[in-house]
Amino acid sequence: MKSLNELSDGQLREKIAKVRCFLLDMDGTFYLGDELFEGSLDFLKAVQASGRSFAFLTNNSSRGTEHYIKKLAAMGVFIGEEQMLSSGQAAAMFLLREYEGKRVFLLGNESLRAEMERFGIEIDQKDPEIVLIGFDTSLDYPKMCAVCDFVRAGLPYIATHPDFNCPTETGFIPDIGAIIAFIEASAGRRPDLVVGKPHGEIVRAATERTGLRAEEMAMVGDRLYTDIKTGLDHGLLSIMVLTGEGTIEEIEKTGIEPEVLVQRLADLIPYL
Ligand SMILES: [Mg+2]
Repeated sequence: MKSLNELSDGQLREKIAKVRCFLLDMDGTFYLGDELFEGSLDFLKAVQASGRSFAFLTNNSSRGTEHYIKKLAAMGVFIGEEQMLSSGQAAAMFLLREYEGKRVFLLGNESLRAEMERFGIEIDQKDPEIVLIGFDTSLDYPKMCAVCDFVRAGLPYIATHPDFNCPTETGFIPDIGAIIAFIEASAGRRPDLVVGKPHGEIVRAATERTGLRAEEMAMVGDRLYTDIKTGLDHGLLSIMVLTGEGTIEEIEKTGIEPEVLVQRLADLIPYL
């Protein structure tokens, strides 16, 4: 029995049978740093052989999706653009749907700006109608003053994702959640909407991208409060792997319980 949360083989097979597309978290789930986990490639092959599809889903809006496509290619994993969805792209899809034609102030890296422009979103840092913030690693004080001014003025305020820290090879660096906290301390507001995991907008983007309903997808990841919560809150099958951040002790402590718990991605192969 490969499931660690006491599902029988039959129960696990039944749950996996409903999945048409696997949404995969990247770091801690598919690879760690620059190293693929053993069996990750075999998992993708088995998914495809079973007639299903997969897509990678990342909250990190500090890099463009082409960065991840290249990174995967360097590890021997070749995917198309449609198989890579970021919180930045999901934010662009949201803006096009809800605020079409509006001018957007962007707090973000060049790659996020380029992504917005590819979607036809007009960036206006002087006279915007909406504020969008991403994980901006080129942040400086003048930018922080500008974003706080526009948030204080009451413009609709959107954030690509909620993460407080971003894991690196040497520890953590402050992620967008720390920027959100800075803005709140100055302007007294939190975002009106957060797009990335565990929030619903990124799931909506995935359903638009795949043409599938949430119930036909699985969210596979290593973090309880982003990946697993995404599945639990929005009707996707939640599958947790123990190759990354989350632990069994954390499940017990938080009460966030994945529907399927396996050691690693490859453990799912017999059930596809
Ligand atoms: Mg992860």
